[in-house]
Amino acid sequence: MPEDGRQVLEQFFHSAPSSVDIEAIWRDWQALQPPYEVTRRRPPLPVWARRSFTETGDQAWEAVQQELAAIDPHKGVCVYVHIPFCAEKCTFCDCYSFRLRSNHQQQAQAYSAALEKETWLWSRAGRLNERQVSTVHFGGGTPLFIGAKAFGHIVEAISVSLNAGPAVEWALETTSSALDEPGLDLLEQMGFTRIHVGVQSLADPLRLLLKRSEPAQVVLEKIRRTINRKQVVSVDLIYGLPQQTPESLIEDMRVLAANGVDGFSLYPLQISSRNRAILKDYGSQGKNLLHEYFMLQAAEQVLRELGYRKTLFNHYAREKDTNLYFTFPERGEDCLALGTIADGVFGSYHYRHPEYREYLSGVSDSFPGLQGGLRRSAQEDRLQPLEVLILSGRLRKEDFDRTLGLQRTAALFQQWLEAALIHPAQGGEYLLTASGSWFAGAMMEQIL
Ligand code: SF4
Repeated sequence: MPEDGRQVLEQFFHSAPSSVDIEAIWRDWQALQPPYEVTRRRPPLPVWARRSFTETGDQAWEAVQQELAAIDPHKGVCVYVHIPFCAEKCTFCDCYSFRLRSNHQQQAQAYSAALEKETWLWSRAGRLNERQVSTVHFGGGTPLFIGAKAFGHIVEAISVSLNAGPAVEWALETTSSALDEPGLDLLEQMGFTRIHVGVQSLADPLRLLLKRSEPAQVVLEKIRRTINRKQVVSVDLIYGLPQQTPESLIEDMRVLAANGVDGFSLYPLQISSRNRAILKDYGSQGKNLLHEYFMLQAAEQVLRELGYRKTLFNHYAREKDTNLYFTFPERGEDCLALGTIADGVFGSYHYRHPEYREYLSGVSDSFPGLQGGLRRSAQEDRLQPLEVLILSGRLRKEDFDRTLGLQRTAALFQQWLEAALIHPAQGGEYLLTASGSWFAGAMMEQIL
């Protein structure tokens, strides 16, 4: 912590609303001790990002089919579909998504045909087609940008080939600009009930900087219309954007909550080769992780005050927002992931798809175009439920006791309590604080 830490904190929040509890933020910041350094935040990583694949694509397909043959057909499964197309590439975007420069319609058709083929193949693996689907979640990209016809074909392929009955939560990620009335009609007809809108910020100057063409008033109007159609609506907001102030983030949350939004996912801007150019907008000071940490602290205070509960380390929800895709591991489900770069898991076997061109040329009548896969080791298997608990934001100590032993758990919980990463709740549970959300990746590394 800088020597003049208190001054830095007060300066940062100098025009924030008085409801922000600066003392609480100061306490939590002061509680942090090595190894928890704000500037060394690492996001939680899935197993396939922590170590290399052990099988190539076709070996992974063999392995995953064997795994599927052994899994009880009563075990639930969620479905994730990645559609990488967007109208424009936003300056801040780190997702695997791109603009189709030519032959839009043919490319959309080719991609939907590959997804249909892939769905059909999976539905014949083991007894996957009997297993109850909890949610079908479309992410990207801007899934609707593929066009109504191609989108309809994908939805139909999943409905027909898998056990996706009336109880399924059909969910879609989208920008507000793709959320027009015909799009909403289409989603309603197809049974979609949850829409996750990438708002990022409602401050118009910031939206311009992010190359978001719709002004905040239009975004809000579209969100209201979507909610009026009885859709559950959640939003993505980014904290720590260039020139963003805590006041503007807090105001965004208040306005969105007042308009009926059911859930908030909060993200710091991750810099990668896909969005490196945005760094110039931070000016000579560069990206400031300490300011991001302060913003997350303040944002969590505001969301709690507005009645949202942390349901994932980075998601806050009211009751209606069940967010079934991101919580599938908590329910002990598998995940069937379809499409380019999508990663899925069956039992302890993880697989991933390659980038777009390789995916399109790889999918055939006998192969779902996988890039590779790997099996969790016995040790990773043993620890996986604890990782899930950390990410869920609710840690049951008895589960840690059982897996890590009483002594190690006591030492870890002591360290996490002293650093204010968790706080005790009822029923032997400990809840992740805002600091805990910031250090969720570090906490996972500690148990692995
Ligand atoms: S932020 Fe959303 S709309 Fe913008 S490029 Fe990324 S995925 Fe596409």
